[in-house]
Amino acid sequence: MVGMGISGIATATRLHRAGWTPVLIERAPARRSGGHFIALFGAGQAAARRLGVLDAIHDRNPWKPNIELDRDSTRYPGLSFADFPGRPWMLLRGDVEKGVFSALPEDVEVRYSTVPTAIEQDAAGVDVTLLDTAAGTSVTERFDLVVGADGLRSTVRSLVFGPHDEYLHRLGYIVAAFHYPGTPAGLAPGEGANMLEPGRCMSVFAFADHDPTILLSYRTEDVDAEFAEPPVDRIRAVFGDKPFGRTLGDVLDVMANTEELLFDSVEQVRMDSWHRGRVVLIGDAAWCVTLYAGMGASTGLAAADLLGVLLERHPGDLATALREWEGALRPYLDRYQRSATEDRQIFLVDKQWQINLRRLVFRFGASRFGRSRLGRLLRDKVTPNTAAKDVDIVGVILGETRAPGPAEGDIVARSA
Ligand SMILES: Cc1cc2nc3c(=O)[nH]c(=O)nc-3n(C[C@H](O)[C@H](O)[C@H](O)COP(=O)(O)OP(=O)(O)OC[C@H]3O[C@@H](n4cnc5c(N)ncnc54)[C@H](O)[C@@H]3O)c2cc1C
Repeated sequence: MVGMGISGIATATRLHRAGWTPVLIERAPARRSGGHFIALFGAGQAAARRLGVLDAIHDRNPWKPNIELDRDSTRYPGLSFADFPGRPWMLLRGDVEKGVFSALPEDVEVRYSTVPTAIEQDAAGVDVTLLDTAAGTSVTERFDLVVGADGLRSTVRSLVFGPHDEYLHRLGYIVAAFHYPGTPAGLAPGEGANMLEPGRCMSVFAFADHDPTILLSYRTEDVDAEFAEPPVDRIRAVFGDKPFGRTLGDVLDVMANTEELLFDSVEQVRMDSWHRGRVVLIGDAAWCVTLYAGMGASTGLAAADLLGVLLERHPGDLATALREWEGALRPYLDRYQRSATEDRQIFLVDKQWQINLRRLVFRFGASRFGRSRLGRLLRDKVTPNTAAKDVDIVGVILGETRAPGPAEGDIVARSA
C-alpha cells in the first residue's frame, strides 16, 4: 500500500484481516495528525463500523446553530452539517486516520520517508523500486499486489497508468484550509460560521472539543496563475477588494502564521479503470470526488472494506476480485462525482441573489416549524444527493442492507 491516508491505512488493516501481509509505504517522515474538517456521512460511518473502527472515531459536532456572517459582522441564521438529513459526523481528517490506524495490527510493516520510483509487473508479481528518501538508498522488491492510495497526485498512478493531466480535471476553484488555535474574533467558542460572497467564501468549522478549522474557497478562471505567488498573498488579494472586517481579518492574520496551510486547486480524478494487472488505485488516487461531494473519506473506507471482502471471496483470482470491486463501486463514485458540482453551491454560490434567497430560507428555517420544513426541503430538493451519502455501500453491494429512498434506488438501478 502506497500512502498512509485514510484509504491506505484502511486497506492495509482490511487486507491483513483477509490474510495478506501488507507493507505500508509513506512519503512523509511520520504519520500526520489533525488536518482539515470533514463530514463523515452515514456511508462513512457504516464503512467504519464494518472495518471495526467506528468506536475509535467520534462526532465533534458542537450542536450550536451555525451563523452566516457579513464582513461588517451582521449575523444571519445559518446552516450546519448537523442540519443535513442523516446528521453527518463533524470531525477532522486526522480523526479518521487515527481511528483506522488504531486498528492496524502491530505486525504490519510501515516504512516512512519512502516513495516508489519504478513499478514493473508481469503475470506473477510486481517489482517495485522503493527510494528511502532519508537514507538516499533504493531497493527493488517483489509484491503480489500494489495498492496506490497516494492521493490526488498519485505517484503509483503516474508510474503505471500515465501522467496526471490524463486524469486530473480541474473544477475551477481554489481551496485553502488550516487549523485556527482558539476562537476567531467575533464568534463564540463552538460557533461555526459562513461568510458567503459571490464566487468566494470563508467557513469556520467549529467543534465541541477541538479548535476550529478554516476553509477559504474561491472561483478562478486561471488555476495556474493562482500558484504564481505565495498562497497567503493570493488569498489576501482575492478577498481584498473591500475591508476584511473583524472575523475575516483575524482569520487571515492567523493564516499568515500557520505552519500547515493546505492550498490547492479543486480537481477530480476521472479514470476509465482503477486497476491494471496487479496494481489498483483507491481513494483520491483513483476517483477524488473533491471536498464539495464530502465523500472522499467515506468512499476510501468503504472501498478498502469491499476490496478485502472480494479478495477473500476470490482467493488466488486477483483479476476477478478487482473487476468485481470496481464494477460494484463505480456507480457510487460516478454519483458522488456528479454531486460535487451540484453540492458545491452549499459552500460557494455564484450570485448575490442566491445568497439573499438563502438568507430568507434560513431565516424561515430558524423557527421550529421552518426547521422541519427546511429539513424536508434539504432532503427532497436541495440536496437529493445526501440520501446517497448515507448508504451502507458495502452492505447494499453484498445484499445485506436494503437500499430505501430514491437516491439510493437510483444507484442500485444503475448498478444492476
Ligand atoms: C478542504 C477539504 C475538505 C474535505 N472535506 C471532506 C468531507 O467533508 N468529507 C469527506 O469525506 N471528505 C472530505 N475531503 C476529502 C478527503 O479528505 C479525502 O478524500 C481523503 O482524505 C483522501 O484520503 P486518501 O487516503 O485517499 O488520500 P490522502 O489523504 O491524500 O493520502 C495520501 C497519502 O499518500 C502519501 N503519499 C503521497 N504521495 C506519495 C508517494 N509518492 N509515496 C508514498 N506516499 C505518498 C501522502 O503523504 C498521504 O499520506 C475534503 C478534502 C479537503 C481538501
